[in-house]
Amino acid sequence: MTSVDSFADADRLVAAQEVARRAEVDAVLVTPGPDLLYLTGYRAIALERLTCLVVPAEGDPVLVAPGLEVPAAQASPVGAAGVSIRGWAETDDPYALVASLIPGARDVALTDSMAATAVLHLRDAMPKARQQLAGPVLRELRMIKSEREIEHLRRAGRAIDSVHEQVPDFLRPGRTEREIGEDIAEAILAAGHTVVDFVIVASGPNGASPHHEVSDRRIVVGDPVVVDIGGTMASGYCSDSTRTYAIGHAPDDFLDYYAVLRDAQRAAVESVRPGVTAEAVDAVARSLITASGYGERFIHRTGHGIGLETHDEPYIVQGNVEMLRVGMAFSVEPGIYLPGKHGARIEDIVVVTPDGVEALNNTTHDLVVTDPAFSS
Ligand code: ZN
Ligand code: ZN
Ligand code: ZN
Repeated sequence: MTSVDSFADADRLVAAQEVARRAEVDAVLVTPGPDLLYLTGYRAIALERLTCLVVPAEGDPVLVAPGLEVPAAQASPVGAAGVSIRGWAETDDPYALVASLIPGARDVALTDSMAATAVLHLRDAMPKARQQLAGPVLRELRMIKSEREIEHLRRAGRAIDSVHEQVPDFLRPGRTEREIGEDIAEAILAAGHTVVDFVIVASGPNGASPHHEVSDRRIVVGDPVVVDIGGTMASGYCSDSTRTYAIGHAPDDFLDYYAVLRDAQRAAVESVRPGVTAEAVDAVARSLITASGYGERFIHRTGHGIGLETHDEPYIVQGNVEMLRVGMAFSVEPGIYLPGKHGARIEDIVVVTPDGVEALNNTTHDLVVTDPAFSS
């Protein structure tokens, strides 16, 4: 198990108990996943055998773990944080063990990613306890990043920027999106990520599909290419950045809307500051794109929060009246998509600061036009 230096484990557990009390839940139950990583730094593997952190509103948190996982848990930051670990033997009932740690619990919050098998077994073990999602209970903690977390996101941002700087070298006419994607994946790891989360290389008409991944299409001179890439660093924090490139030159109709997109993305980033609502940032990008006649071609929300997961709160979307606060981190990624032709997207991760915004991705927003004669 990797240790995660960024975690003030004890503080986060204390904070989780505080929010649990405020939400009037008796315990938060956390199986392996981003909440467990956030609260303890323990990057446990999700297995069919139950591992579950029990965070009671009052009293000491306990990690219930399969006996054979106990040494790994002890070696993880959980051990260092002084959380007591209760191993269970192969023939024990781990759900009954969890129930015995919170006798009389009436309301329990379950980590959002908990497997249905665990949810239902816990219901059977605690038939009197009402189950609810832990997401709304923990969201405040997860959403507002500490200075240390922001520094981890900054490093992730710099790492993915360094990959985008290499992308023009990979984009040679005649190569397939898949081949280019393989080079990019290698570069993502070489830049310090431990996991490649996604690689989108969407050339020509594929660029009109926002979540296209890679295909065997060969890129040709004149293609616009949307490259949206991200990974997870050893710290657990994620990167995510999109740039759009052109091979040699780009069609005129593309250049028209690329300029619109670039201005809209910049205006949306500049609108970010404490007290502005999430939906207002979406509206800034959308109104500029709509005013230029491309409103119907901007077919997704403007952004998503990011941290230990690539998609997290706050979502930058119409209808989200959540006020931005210092420490929130999210993407600003408007796009314009012309089905059958091409598309473009520009994406930066930004953090809300006391006086506005800090962009964590800083490669150029100008269309990067590759030299098609280049080969190495
Ligand atoms: Zn996406
Ligand atoms: Zn994104
Ligand atoms: Zn992205």
